[in-house]
Amino acid sequence: MISLAVGRVSCAVGGIDGFLVMTNLEEMSNASSDTGYNRIPPNYSDRLSRSRREISFRSDIDIETEMTISFLDACKGGKKNIEVNKKEFCTVCTGSGKNFDVCPDCKGTGIEKTVRKGIFGKENIPCQKCGGSRKIAVSSCPRCKGSGSTEALCTVELNIPAGIDDGQTLVVRGQGNVNVANRSYGDLRVLIKVTEHPVFRRNEYDIHVDVPVSEEQCRKGGQIKVPCIHGDIIMSLPENTKYKTVFRLKGKGIMKLNQTEQGDEFVRIVAADSAKFNEK
Ligand SMILES: [Zn+2]
Ligand SMILES: [Zn+2]
Repeated sequence: MISLAVGRVSCAVGGIDGFLVMTNLEEMSNASSDTGYNRIPPNYSDRLSRSRREISFRSDIDIETEMTISFLDACKGGKKNIEVNKKEFCTVCTGSGKNFDVCPDCKGTGIEKTVRKGIFGKENIPCQKCGGSRKIAVSSCPRCKGSGSTEALCTVELNIPAGIDDGQTLVVRGQGNVNVANRSYGDLRVLIKVTEHPVFRRNEYDIHVDVPVSEEQCRKGGQIKVPCIHGDIIMSLPENTKYKTVFRLKGKGIMKLNQTEQGDEFVRIVAADSAKFNEK
């Protein structure tokens, strides 16, 4: 049972480890048909979505929200917390929606009477009014007014996969609203927005960067410092390099989603006093 206090709480739902990034409607409808979060295979594959409209949305239990992350956080991935208002089981009635009182007939014993059975045995006949449960529902739960659920601000940890891009939706299975009737949970869908970077530009999993170099250094060649998303690296510039020459640094781009390979970085040599450089 999940217990939630009023106000700011941290929600932990047991057995949920499913993060999905969705790619298209077909894949999502397959995923959606599986409403029991405990049936998510442990080795699910992340999926991507360009649009929230592609995803069938269950308005009663799914929660939709968005989060803005930095360019480098999108490249590198990592954990981030998000606060979400979501419905959980009512802490007072634990989802029954009812307010119980001690059974007046059996005075809370649950027993109607005790009868002899055999020579030494006894048997308890359960109370007819409460069925042996010792209590009876007298009214709706005062906290949830009978709905069985209450809303609380929850902190959900997002596991942002390296390489996620602007406009993609991260789906966290089982972190949506509770469905009191069948005691299951909807999904949390987080539309990811990525801010632009002053130096790096992205094309799929490749990084493009302009590196300003003096005329003299272009002529002589030598080692230059090049910014990469994982830190600066030193690159050897050949003699007599012309401006607008583009060098490709293999594997220095963004980690491809759910793969072990990375994109490339394309380094364009520009004049040190170029307008492009002065803009930055
Ligand atoms: Zn009773
Ligand atoms: Zn309640």
